[in-house]
Amino acid sequence: MMQPARHFPLKIEQLKSVLFDLTTNSYFATNRSALLEAFVSQLKQFLCADGVGFYSYNKCKGSYYLQNSSFNNEEKVSQTIPIEAYEAFTSDVSNQSEVVYAGEGLLPELSSYQTVILQFDNSDMDEYKDLLFFFYDNELDIKKFNNLLLEVKEECMKLFEYVKRNHAFHKDEERYEQLYRVTAKFHSSMNIKDVLREIIHTLEKVYPSFENYLLMSQDTEELGDLPVKGLQYDGSTISHSATQAYLTGHVQFEDRLLEDRSVLYAPLKGKQGIYGVLQVMAPNAIMFTKQEVDFVELLANTAGNALENAQLYQQSKQLIDDLRLINKTSHRLNSNLRLFDTVQFMKEQIVNSFGAQEVGFFMFPNGDEAQLLEGSTSFFKTPAARVILHSLVERIRENKDSLFISDLENDDLVSCRPYRSLLVVPMVQSGELKGGIIAFHKHPYFFTFEKFKLLESLVHHSTLAFVNSMLREKLEEMVITDYLTKLYSRNFLDDYIQKAMDTDHQGTFLLIDIDNFKLINDTFGHQVGDEIIIQVAELIRSNIRKDDIASRWGGEELAVYLPLLSLEEGIDVAKRLVKSVPEDTEPKITISCGVAYWSRKRKDSVKSLFNRADEALYEAKRTGKNKVIIHKTNL
Ligand code: GH3
Ligand code: MG
Ligand code: MG
Repeated sequence: MMQPARHFPLKIEQLKSVLFDLTTNSYFATNRSALLEAFVSQLKQFLCADGVGFYSYNKCKGSYYLQNSSFNNEEKVSQTIPIEAYEAFTSDVSNQSEVVYAGEGLLPELSSYQTVILQFDNSDMDEYKDLLFFFYDNELDIKKFNNLLLEVKEECMKLFEYVKRNHAFHKDEERYEQLYRVTAKFHSSMNIKDVLREIIHTLEKVYPSFENYLLMSQDTEELGDLPVKGLQYDGSTISHSATQAYLTGHVQFEDRLLEDRSVLYAPLKGKQGIYGVLQVMAPNAIMFTKQEVDFVELLANTAGNALENAQLYQQSKQLIDDLRLINKTSHRLNSNLRLFDTVQFMKEQIVNSFGAQEVGFFMFPNGDEAQLLEGSTSFFKTPAARVILHSLVERIRENKDSLFISDLENDDLVSCRPYRSLLVVPMVQSGELKGGIIAFHKHPYFFTFEKFKLLESLVHHSTLAFVNSMLREKLEEMVITDYLTKLYSRNFLDDYIQKAMDTDHQGTFLLIDIDNFKLINDTFGHQVGDEIIIQVAELIRSNIRKDDIASRWGGEELAVYLPLLSLEEGIDVAKRLVKSVPEDTEPKITISCGVAYWSRKRKDSVKSLFNRADEALYEAKRTGKNKVIIHKTNL
């Protein structure tokens, strides 16, 4: 029995002292893997083994997994040993409960070694079942050292006890500190991105070696830098377990044998639904302990609730914004705008609130044919847009229903390139199709369903205003006097000049536009704006002869036809008007005036006369306003 001294030169007291040092070293107190490494290597030395492997049991997986190993010659031991395999093996060998002596069998890759296994089996605590393997490549009769091995085991137990208590304490402390911090943050944040970032950040902190992903069920575009994947569309990366977690609301596990990884899926669960799945991947097939699973699940639940709150908050904020928009629109449209202004206003709303790149408006002013309204965006002035309009009208005429097309490339509508997203909402009044609004965007899937519904609601609230403006303008065409100024209507003026050109030998035409009138409206309101138009109309009336024709040309533009007057006489009238307007208006305004003249000496037309006056007026505006400009052909 002197053999041991040769093979195990160290005394158990020495092992005790070494292990005691490990437990009192503050570095090892917080670094568990370093502690295990030192422990395994010390044991190998003490028991003169050629290799040591330390396995712990994982209840969730039902197998032992390698915590640490050390070999003299780089041997590799299995990462996991299923419990059934171990039990089958130990029932075979001549064992006693505490120390197992084995030849080959359990770890075939190490069959050339003699193996001694110390079993640490605390049946009260299933979590903490460990195995210590010692490998010898010589023909050592190790059974003789049973007593020494039992002493070693005793010392190891003390160390394990310490490690487990200490580690659990540290981990729990850290975990709950993080959980506390994260919960506090969730409660203070209504931003979905912040919530998600916090989950990832917390996991990274608590488990630095894990790889984590968020598998989200909804749009993830704006989540940018976060490790996010879609849950539904990207079939290739989404595993069955992830889908299971999402559908059942329970944590799922998956072993990726090829990659040698364990994956955990925890649903992000709120009270009303599941918003995604948290994917946590551990390196090297490490098993998740019950505490880890509990922690990740708790984190995912907390996050699910926070996400739900944030989403509800954002939804309600959106709803309020939408209501505000509808309210503002109704309010504005109730103030009897002209058709052009109605279009203008709606266009602004749709561009601003929906992000539409092109907005078109159409109505049916003269029966069946749809007409694009002035004020639609530039695309609608192209020939291609006419074709598109025609085909869209065909499509909605039948059921008077809206169109919501997420990607025009997949639709058999006429080509709308370069536009991919389309909304068309018809204006329907008393069951009759009155017109519609079209919105385009170049990106597919640009408009959300909520935006589509909002547009329907906006159109619903504005149809009456469109129809009224249209009717009023049609009515104006039919009457001789303008309702606001009591001047002649434009129609009447047209006809009058036409007749004059047939019978007279000359005449002068003045086109007048109030300067900066938008500003007047914006500053004093439309009511005052209207009054200004009336004041200017009065001024014109009192400055011209009985036979002259003053008319409302449209909006804040007025026109005067001076039958039989020469250009010079006409210019005098124009100058008199431009001078007196700022003197006699309150609030004070100015006007610009373009002058055009016709005479029998030259071939002319009403249309050309109007155009010349318009060009001259434009010139007056361009060169500073508050002035008279005579068209160049008349000079
Ligand atoms: P400019 O000096 O270039 O003419 O500037 P402006 O602000 O007058 O511009 P513009 O002629 O393009 O705009 C006229 C504005 O007058 C547009 C419209 O909102 C307003 N307007 C048109 N008709 C009426 C109306 O009957 N009543 C009122 N209150 N405003 C009108
Ligand atoms: Mg104008
Ligand atoms: Mg003007």
